Amino acid sequence: MVEKDTIMLVDDEELIKKTLTDVLTEEFEVICASNGKEALELLEENVNRIAVIVLDLIMPVMDGFQFMDEFRLHREYDNIPVIVATANEDWHSEKKCLEAGVWDFVMKPYNPELLSFRIKNALEKSRMLMSERDLITGLYTMPKLYQEVRRLLANAGDVTYAFIRMDIDRFKMINNFYGVNEGDKVLISVANELKRVSKVFDNYVYGRIENDVFAVCMPYKEENIDLLVNAIQLALKKVNKDYNIKISCGVYVISDPTMDVSDMYDRAFLAAKNCKGKFVESVSYYADSMIETMRQEQFVINEVNKALEEEQFEVYLQPKINLVKDKSYGAEALVRWRHPEKGMIAPNDFIPVYERNGIIGKLDQYMWRHVCMLLRKWLDEGKKPNPISVNVSQVNIYNPHLVDILKNLITEYRIPAELMNLELTESAFMEDQELVMKTMGKLHDLGFVIMMDDFGSGYSSLNVLKDMEVDYLKVDMKFLQQDREFNGKGEKVLTSVIRMAKWLHLPSIVEGVETIEQVDFLKCIGCEYAQGYYYAKPMQIADYEKFVENEELSETELFTDENTGIVSDLWNTRSHVSLFLDLLDFPMAIYEYRKDKLELLRTNKKNDSEIAFEKGIDENEHNRRVRNEREILKEEFHKLVSGDFVEPVEYEVTDDLWYKVTIKLIGKRVDTMIMLVTFYDISDYK
Ligand code: C2E
Ligand code: CA
Ligand code: CA
Repeated sequence: MVEKDTIMLVDDEELIKKTLTDVLTEEFEVICASNGKEALELLEENVNRIAVIVLDLIMPVMDGFQFMDEFRLHREYDNIPVIVATANEDWHSEKKCLEAGVWDFVMKPYNPELLSFRIKNALEKSRMLMSERDLITGLYTMPKLYQEVRRLLANAGDVTYAFIRMDIDRFKMINNFYGVNEGDKVLISVANELKRVSKVFDNYVYGRIENDVFAVCMPYKEENIDLLVNAIQLALKKVNKDYNIKISCGVYVISDPTMDVSDMYDRAFLAAKNCKGKFVESVSYYADSMIETMRQEQFVINEVNKALEEEQFEVYLQPKINLVKDKSYGAEALVRWRHPEKGMIAPNDFIPVYERNGIIGKLDQYMWRHVCMLLRKWLDEGKKPNPISVNVSQVNIYNPHLVDILKNLITEYRIPAELMNLELTESAFMEDQELVMKTMGKLHDLGFVIMMDDFGSGYSSLNVLKDMEVDYLKVDMKFLQQDREFNGKGEKVLTSVIRMAKWLHLPSIVEGVETIEQVDFLKCIGCEYAQGYYYAKPMQIADYEKFVENEELSETELFTDENTGIVSDLWNTRSHVSLFLDLLDFPMAIYEYRKDKLELLRTNKKNDSEIAFEKGIDENEHNRRVRNEREILKEEFHKLVSGDFVEPVEYEVTDDLWYKVTIKLIGKRVDTMIMLVTFYDISDYK
């Protein structure tokens, strides 16, 4: 016999309930409640049973509207149709009902035949929505899975369960690159593995929530979860050997089995975010602190409008240094949040949040306006400011009004477009290249200078660069930072990035420069600009103004030596002098020596190939040699400056490798000397 569907009848009039029950029991199982409160209680006990609710609006204790308010709060009730019985044809209450999620109406007094018809209609509709099996994988769909989880937990006894949410990293990319069929293949292999594992574990339910998201509920045992994840990971490896598919798993160990399943899901999701993008970790467990993080995120979202209104955001400036001239050339504007109660809030605590939900668009525009105001102020003061660059986040790159917004700003403040440079993050170039190129074309027409920011942080290849008409390349700081861990790998990549950029006549700015060694290295490979703590941290506007003033003061101490012409030519990579130096068959380098400090200005090709990048040499050994060389040079420079005669120095670099070094003073500023250093390999004579 086919099981009958259960109807819940909610009405305060006993007679109505009795008559209707008599009629409806032929086709349905009927349970009755006399008011909203009773109905909610019955519902909670019978959530898996009740298929349709017939609801009277006007009742004592808790009326139909109040019932709907409560009802709507529970996600597991989403698919239970509610049919409301109304006596009055009040349009307003009907509208209110629809807003509250009511499916259908019947007129009171009831016509049993009509009511039965409406109930069947609603049932059919909800069945379609509630289809229990997902078409692609054959797994339970979300509502069905949640139901099963409830059932499982209701009988859990003392056993602790875990709710696991898993999804496939960069699934969208698989779909885009390899096609939807390939994507489906991946989903099916996950599903098959979940099924296969189900034969091993007891009390284990699983389903597909949406797209590439799956969920499992099973008794909690860490090793079993690892087993499950490894099995899936292994199965995915077999789908396609060409690309690495990784899953991210969030686990919520269920401490409160009465919690809504959707809340368990949310917690597992929160945990899963923690292993996103990491290469090793696939499983992450929920901790209450994650809720704290979420609260903080909520805080910065709630506060943003007020902060914008009250101008709590400030422009900080970090100078960019022209490595050829050793002098700053403009700065990047970076936002700082001075909160009246919390003090300074770091950009990393709010920018990523704003990027995720689009608020960043507004903040960007706030920064642009403030930079325009600043440039206007400088121009009014008769200064000749260098360009200030602003960040343009992805949201704004795809904002159809971007060009107009920027145009209006520079018109309003009468700013020459080339004074406000635009930093567009690399990842933005990847999504819709055509659109980005179009926008960039328009911005170029207006005279804006465009920089590709964070180059190397994402997946784009050098290849993209040749199609993208950017004016500058800002190289991500990870290449410099990597070297502490990866033994010179970053340096090698950096060298080829800069070389390639040169090929494309694209000047580069390397970010995150923190040490003199890094500066030397960048000069060595011909990088044009640097930005980083070695030169200056982001600073308040007033400090930046002082910074530039000081620079200008020292600038007036011009060269006094007769070699000035040659020396300034040396600073230009494409000058004849530089080209000539590159032709020389021995390594040479030019140093600046000032107040007992030396800084490398320029090397020739032979130096790069023989000294700077000797093949197969270990990084520590390389650094030791550089330090040693610096010490020797310092000593000799000092002698030279004190007026002593300096003979060529011979020194042993390492076993059996000897150099003879000659030093010549070729230029002089007040207390700054320019030294030409040549190296001869004299090992054969030793
Ligand atoms: P970014 O655009 O790559 O900016 C450079 C970041 O590196 C800045 O961090 C800067 O303070 C930091 N930095 C500079 N030199 C060094 C160094 O030598 N070593 C190290 N470790 N870090 C250095 P900040 O100001 O915390 O900003 C972080 C990110 O937030 C920025 O990265 C940018 O993506 C975003 N951001 C900052 N201000 C804005 C803004 O006004 N609008 C938008 N859309 N994003 C912004
Ligand atoms: Ca930037
Ligand atoms: Ca950057």
